[in-house]
Amino acid sequence: MKKNEKEIMEIIDYSTDGFGIAKASDGMTVFVPNGAVGDKAEILIVKELKKFCFGKVLNIITPSNDRVEPDCEVFSRCGGCCFRHIDYDAELKYKQKRVADAILRIGGIDTKVNEVLSNKKTIRYRNKGQYPVRKDKNGKIIAGFYSLHSHLVVPCSDCVLQPKEFKAVVDACLDFFNQYNISAYDEQTGKGLVRHIYLRKSDYENKVLVCLVINGESIKNQEILVENLKKFEFVSGIVLNINTKKSNVILGDKNKTLYDKDYISETLLGVKFKISPLAFFQVNRQMTEKLYQTIADFADVKDKIVLDLFCGAGTIGLSIAKTAKRIIGVEIVPQAVENAKGNAKLNGIENAEYICDTAENAAKTLDEKGVKADVVILDPPRKGASEKLINTVCNGFAPKRVVYVSCDPATLARDLKVFKSLGYKIQKVQPVDMFPRTAHVETVVLMTRI
Ligand code: SAH
Repeated sequence: MKKNEKEIMEIIDYSTDGFGIAKASDGMTVFVPNGAVGDKAEILIVKELKKFCFGKVLNIITPSNDRVEPDCEVFSRCGGCCFRHIDYDAELKYKQKRVADAILRIGGIDTKVNEVLSNKKTIRYRNKGQYPVRKDKNGKIIAGFYSLHSHLVVPCSDCVLQPKEFKAVVDACLDFFNQYNISAYDEQTGKGLVRHIYLRKSDYENKVLVCLVINGESIKNQEILVENLKKFEFVSGIVLNINTKKSNVILGDKNKTLYDKDYISETLLGVKFKISPLAFFQVNRQMTEKLYQTIADFADVKDKIVLDLFCGAGTIGLSIAKTAKRIIGVEIVPQAVENAKGNAKLNGIENAEYICDTAENAAKTLDEKGVKADVVILDPPRKGASEKLINTVCNGFAPKRVVYVSCDPATLARDLKVFKSLGYKIQKVQPVDMFPRTAHVETVVLMTRI
């Protein structure tokens, strides 16, 4: 197929990005955003690459049985959700299959994968919003979300994944920026002041922490913005985050508090947490409780020594610390480690300790010191765990149980293969839908030493 050619094709599967996949008559694989498995549609080729193409649905001839009316105005322009056009149960089935396929194809392991755990809440489940701020072509300051695979901002202050309160804050910030001529950051030139409006909501307190990420030290007339935002009863704190680096990383490492609190308070499985804007915190609180309950069931930590690697603000370990003998958490971000230590104190937990280092280094040092671990929990970022770390876990600590929490089925599958080669067997695979309507799926795997 060539660019601008069109053909009637059937959508047969989804890609890991949540695009429909079609095969053209010449055998070419075509990725079709917003295609639904079962659609028969006329597809226009919009981009041609060596091994595959990207297509656009021109008109649907026979719609998939899974099709539903999307419940969002910017769906298909915004790069956030990819499944608002199909039935949620179909999405869950696909996610289960995706995890099984990855473990089989990449990991070479044929294993049972449980049905995806979900509370079926597909709107307003997030507690964190990151809105890039830009100047539009009319010179107006806007905020919204990146469009698919680009950094063009689709204006949107009321995303259906976000709490209602976020819209009020974003609109108030934009009014202020436009009224007082506050400049927006320009990624090309690295000039302009406001980069992101970064919001976190606590369900527990029903409060919102406002964090404005700026390319500078202060905002002109910021006291007026503070007064405007303070009018919202639900705003519990306003923070400036200083990020003057020319990079895609959203947050800088320095915060300045403009009003009241510089953290949010939240609870998970009855344990209280204080979270700094710089510390990782799961975005779907209700599903996090289900995720952590699954981890707790798999880890079975009663009277055990537990390593909680990639621990963030200590949330997994602390939520299961009560019955464990000892928890050792490892995390690379200093503010998150401070949060973890503070969170242990806040809950009167005395059997948890934290190390600020890479999981690789800390695990090696602990092992060399002769520290034993009965259970290792690891929850790495998307890139997964390094072979070095997996080696230390399997050959050093050699715990009876390993619980691997993953946000990327592909790197999970790659790592499971290494665990298998070092004597570990998969017992349970539980996908958890932390991010309904997006292409993401979380997976918890229990492995035991053979
Ligand atoms: N378990 C936590 C956090 C998981 S996110 C929770 O459920 O909330 C992954 C965490 O790994 C992040 O906090 C990130 O800062 C941290 N991280 C990333 N690379 C790391 C590394 N090499 N060593 C240790 N921690 C790392």
